Amino acid sequence: MDEKASGLASPLTVLRGVGPALAKTLTRLDLHRVGDLLFLLPLRYEDRTTLHHIGSVRPGMRCLISGEVLLAETVYRGRRSMLVRISDGSGQLTLRFFYFSRQQQTQFATGAKVSCYGDVRPGPVGLEMVHPEYRVLRENQEPAVTDTLTPVYPMTEGVQQGRLRNLVGQALAMMKESPPAELLPTEILDELELPTLTEALAYLHTPPPDTDLASIEAGRHPCQVRLSFEELLAHYMSLRHLRNLARKESAMSLPGGPVLQRNFIDSLPYKLTNAQNRVVAEIGSDLQVPHPMMRLIQGDVGSGKTVVAAAACAQAVAGGVQAAVMAPTELLAEQHWTSFCDWFKDLGVELAWLSGSQKKADRQASLEAIGSGRAGIVVGTHALFQEGVNFSNLALVIIDEQHRFGVHQRLALRDKGASGGVHPHQLVMTATPIPRTLAMAAYADLDTSIIDELPPGRQAVKTIALPDTRRNEVIERVRDACAEGQQAYWVCPLIDESEVLDYQAAEASYEMLTESLDALSVGLVHGRMKNTARDKVMRAFKSGDIDVLVATTVIEVGVDVPNASLMIIENSERMGLSQLHQLRGRVGRGRDQSHCVMLYKQPLGQLAKSRLGVLRETNDGFVVAQRDLELRGPGELLGTKQTGLPEYRIANLTRDADLMPAVQKAAENIQKNHATAEFPIVARWLGNAHHYGKV
Ligand code: ADP
Ligand code: MG
Repeated sequence: MDEKASGLASPLTVLRGVGPALAKTLTRLDLHRVGDLLFLLPLRYEDRTTLHHIGSVRPGMRCLISGEVLLAETVYRGRRSMLVRISDGSGQLTLRFFYFSRQQQTQFATGAKVSCYGDVRPGPVGLEMVHPEYRVLRENQEPAVTDTLTPVYPMTEGVQQGRLRNLVGQALAMMKESPPAELLPTEILDELELPTLTEALAYLHTPPPDTDLASIEAGRHPCQVRLSFEELLAHYMSLRHLRNLARKESAMSLPGGPVLQRNFIDSLPYKLTNAQNRVVAEIGSDLQVPHPMMRLIQGDVGSGKTVVAAAACAQAVAGGVQAAVMAPTELLAEQHWTSFCDWFKDLGVELAWLSGSQKKADRQASLEAIGSGRAGIVVGTHALFQEGVNFSNLALVIIDEQHRFGVHQRLALRDKGASGGVHPHQLVMTATPIPRTLAMAAYADLDTSIIDELPPGRQAVKTIALPDTRRNEVIERVRDACAEGQQAYWVCPLIDESEVLDYQAAEASYEMLTESLDALSVGLVHGRMKNTARDKVMRAFKSGDIDVLVATTVIEVGVDVPNASLMIIENSERMGLSQLHQLRGRVGRGRDQSHCVMLYKQPLGQLAKSRLGVLRETNDGFVVAQRDLELRGPGELLGTKQTGLPEYRIANLTRDADLMPAVQKAAENIQKNHATAEFPIVARWLGNAHHYGKV
């Protein structure tokens, strides 16, 4: 937190009771300055605002009581424990301790007055509290009833709850003395009916007894929304800032609608869908601007993104510059390579191929074609951006299926392609549609195009879930389908994230299917295979020589075999919704009605049941994504860890994504009317200036 104007910017050691050692421990909670304590929100609250009569408490209550010790004894029934019987005249209750010291035994002398806070539960003889928080009261001392709810903070080893409460209390006092700047313009707070920053912070650390705890637990109390909103706004504005910086750089301006592009589109065996045409036009006008395009295409599996990418390439090469198309796997890159060669062979465009597994001589030839500028379009894997690859005049970079790329990687790629201050245009394509509000947060640095239409004639994939005890019936179904000339995938998903186990599971299924389907040709592909061996099998499947392809999830992304109309997925209960939807997207690409059978191991948990239910009900990737978001959260949806999604302190996208439209509006307002507030807001939540503009 950056609160230079006030004591809140001071190091924690200015607080009473904090020396260098404790200050160091507190860094584990990401606490560095006094102001940081204010943003350490309680996990929950305890209600010690009322002293309850023992006669009125009920099991399940968590409350404050007080009374006089009637009897304290150590018993050995089963487990050694100390029982302290107390009474306040209205009733009696037992305090039960399993761990206790000699000193505690003497503390609870008959007649001593104690106050206790804890969970009430039924015991062998009436109500009990097990290990309550307690205090032995002096003569005439009253139990400490508080005016506000008591916060319970996240803890780390070496810091007691009481200590944290005390430190936050000190920080709150300093906040009253010199409050942090209110950075949100009044009109925004008024419109959204949100409290000020200091009001929100004070409330959340010391809420009044009548607080709506249910709304706090849900994370949607206006005071919490106030903080989440500002945090989301800070991240959003920082991404937009990056985008604006990138937009200021120069890029090649490529003329729109060239003959080559029209010839390319006319030579296709089908007409582009309206959605494809719209996106081709959106890209087309971006490419004419002398600043780098940063565009994301979202389109469900099978919506035909590849051909849109190729049309963009056609516009680039028509302008005399180079385009690079990068895919995340060799398999997918090679598939693009085949399509691109086919599309451009009669259009006089030279293509080059680059992959990690290439023979040295081939690679040398590709590098030469790329370096001399002869190759107009270069297709490949990550190898495209390795050392030693020098483009002659790269003006367009297309990254397929890289929804797991974060902002950092996107920027790194952009910079790699830059030369002489000129940056390439960048197009990122993803088949993991994410809900609009989430996209606003995750992709604020990109413009988005959506292909929301499938090519005509596609039928929805009929999806069912079956227990794997019915595997034999499913095998019969595969046999029948293949007898009619169709093809099938049999997918064995990740097991324990281990390639070895993966491979064994796929191998076992392969053997089982080879045996039971002896009249059919069964193939196997998995991640540990050499690329050449794997490609051989894939090609055989594509050409129809293989009827049933047993595969690990390597086929998840992009593989296109229109004649395959049946997909069996083993252990589907372990997989994410979006991943299942991706896999299912491998079928339903041809004329035949396609089917997807999700096999699961019994018993099926409630969550797994509802997940599989979603896939049975809809074929719409956006709906699937929305449900995935609700069921599992954004990290899973965008790919864990490398999501590029920032770590939020207070906001939570699953819960707060609906704030994004208002965040976007506020950002525009601030940029237009309160420009000086932008930097301090970003700095407050993302750290100091060094994050800003660089990430
Ligand atoms: P994805 O968006 O999943 O990458 P692809 O680009 O692999 O989809 O396209 C899926 C299939 O649809 C391919 O076989 C492709 O040739 C075909 N296709 C793409 N566009 C059209 C269209 N407009 N009409 C008919 N088929 C199309
Ligand atoms: Mg694709």
